[in-house]
Amino acid sequence: MWIDFHTHQSAGLLPALRLYNLPAGESFPTAPFSIGIHPWWLDQQPLDKLQNWVKEGLRSDSAWALGECGMDKRIATDPSLQRGIAQWHIELAAECRKPLVFHCVKAHNELMQLVQNIRPKVPVIFHGFRGSHALAQTLIDRGFYIGIGLPRPTAAYQQLVRHVPLDRMTLETDDGQEDIAHIYAYMAELKRIPIEQLMIAMKQNALAIFGDKIKSVHGS
Ligand SMILES: [Zn+2]
Repeated sequence: MWIDFHTHQSAGLLPALRLYNLPAGESFPTAPFSIGIHPWWLDQQPLDKLQNWVKEGLRSDSAWALGECGMDKRIATDPSLQRGIAQWHIELAAECRKPLVFHCVKAHNELMQLVQNIRPKVPVIFHGFRGSHALAQTLIDRGFYIGIGLPRPTAAYQQLVRHVPLDRMTLETDDGQEDIAHIYAYMAELKRIPIEQLMIAMKQNALAIFGDKIKSVHGS
């Protein structure tokens, strides 16, 4: 079975287990989803409304993860506001024992520090990772997962893919148009392993991250 650990598409051509990341304010689907306040939304929507929406959504059995949330130093939004909301998500994850999906741009140390302070004891994925393999290694050493997907032609990115061990990697289509099978094929080729091996590894990671929930999904 294909597993897409982070996507903004609620459906695709292939049968797959998708963790659909909900757009702000959307009603809660019965298929697995992640819910959280993206740092990009902080300047656009009333915060208390978003926070209530997240808390309400987390009561659903289909809410498999919190996110994407985190920090983005590329945007103008006040970093201390971003940090406060990231902290709110981490505390919430600790409380409801759900994994976290981070959106992180140039704030890896800060997010690592927040997780270290709060110790939520849940799996944490740095999704859409574009950093160096050295930064990936720092995150891996601390027990985080590296979420990657969209093919990129740079040598640094290919080095990153080869470097991240299978048991710390999650594959995702994110907001791209590729189907998940294409992402698996691309990664398997870069890692010089059969696609089947990648599929087995991703299933093990899904079990480690989401627990028995994945057994309830048809065809898994
Ligand atoms: Zn995303």
